[in-house]
Amino acid sequence: MSRTIYDLIGLFAGVCFILALKGLSHPKTARRGNKIGALGATIATLVVFFYANEGSSLPLNNLGWILGAIAVGALVGVPAARKVQMTQMPQLVALFNGVGGGAAALVAIVEYLHLGDTATTAEVVFTVFTVIVGCVSFSGSIITFMKLQELMTTRPVVFPGGRFVIAGTLVAVLGVAVWVVTALGTTPLLVLAGLSLLFGVLFVLPVGGADVPIVISLLNAFTGLTVAASGYVLDSVLLIIAGTLVGASGTILTRLMAEAMGRSLFGTLFGAFTAKPQDTSGVAEDRPVRSGSPDDVAILLNYARRVVIVPGFGLAVAQAQHTVRELADLMISKGIDVAYGIHPVAGRMPGHMNVLLAEANVPYDQLLEMDEVNPTFGQTDVAIVIGANDVVNPAAQNTPGCPIYGMPILEVSNAANVIFLKRSMRPGFAGIENELLYDPKTMLLFGDAKASLTKVVGALKAL
Ligand code: NDP
Repeated sequence: MSRTIYDLIGLFAGVCFILALKGLSHPKTARRGNKIGALGATIATLVVFFYANEGSSLPLNNLGWILGAIAVGALVGVPAARKVQMTQMPQLVALFNGVGGGAAALVAIVEYLHLGDTATTAEVVFTVFTVIVGCVSFSGSIITFMKLQELMTTRPVVFPGGRFVIAGTLVAVLGVAVWVVTALGTTPLLVLAGLSLLFGVLFVLPVGGADVPIVISLLNAFTGLTVAASGYVLDSVLLIIAGTLVGASGTILTRLMAEAMGRSLFGTLFGAFTAKPQDTSGVAEDRPVRSGSPDDVAILLNYARRVVIVPGFGLAVAQAQHTVRELADLMISKGIDVAYGIHPVAGRMPGHMNVLLAEANVPYDQLLEMDEVNPTFGQTDVAIVIGANDVVNPAAQNTPGCPIYGMPILEVSNAANVIFLKRSMRPGFAGIENELLYDPKTMLLFGDAKASLTKVVGALKAL
């Protein structure tokens, strides 16, 4: 296959990626977008096997290794992607992203050894960049995976003098980078990789639970940039296009998430060093709360004129999207005005609630964005909060220094009555107490969201 045909096919795959992103921007076209993206990726992978150019650095002579690696990747990746719960998607993305960053760094190291003395300064600079960012992305993503999977604490890990250790490691990384560019050689490059791995760990440890998905998105953008840089070293237009797309979309997503949480990216990454100590023990306070039965909730709903349903992470855990729709339909049939209040970071990924409710065919016009729904809580008789906590926690507005301070919230406390469906008094992802649970107008219905909703539906039907 000639270079021109190879490049044209690469361009076609690049166009597929762009169309995929366009499709993914709306729930209605997301499936098609996903398929187009997968087609582009398949073409991009296969075309390498048909391109055997003399001067190409593509290692087609290692076919056995390549096919073996593909087989191992498929054996691990396919079942993992099939089995993963939607609530675990961010950690899967973190893991895949980390592996991508690590792979880009390894390819850069191998290519560096391959080029030897013939490497131009530009190639060495791009190699150094790929190794640093790829290694940071790899080790940082592994830590985010462990945090989200609760294999380690989700709270910020801060130690005395931590900021100096991080700053010192960064300076060392930059110093060794200069050493690699000026002195060349394998040893400095491996030292650089080791220090970058350490920096990735130190960089992510202080980030608190609720901010981890933002960091995943940032690391994802980093991986995109490493892939684009390795595209330069490997002379691959396709890698440059794909890497740039990931870098750009990851950066936009990071910004949107940080904005939705009402904080700057700097604050997200370095907030742990400046935040005041909080009581994040997660141990519920021994204060009275008003709990009710499914019948109590049904009676309250039956006499309401307007009800706003606020879904959160717990709704996804309980897979209660179909039952919540059943409840909403039942209320609508009784002449009650029903809407869903959607917080942009409810759940564990942007748009999580929209996707979840779309699965149950909840009509889009019933979904109200935060800015639309907030002014209506004053005229709402009942706000029913299902498996949500942080996104309705007034501490975000009135407790400076708390991990979610500044995050815009759904102002359910303005409704006449608030009902929480949750299993216990445990806090949400950010690990902080929610005063609203103790408010006299709040009623708690304890239990798994799906089981509780089923009982409420039964009780409401009987009224
Ligand atoms: P939270 O994590 O704050 O609260 C979830 C609640 O659901 C908990 O109080 C839990 O209480 C309850 N719960 C869990 N399982 C069940 C179940 N089976 N049945 C009933 N209740 C259940 O979720 P929110 O959606 O309110 O907030 C999302 C958090 O994620 C925020 O901190 C946000 O900042 C963060 N985040 C989200 C991002 C995104 O893109 N979506 C990005 C970045 C951060 P209990 O254990 O007592 O049942």
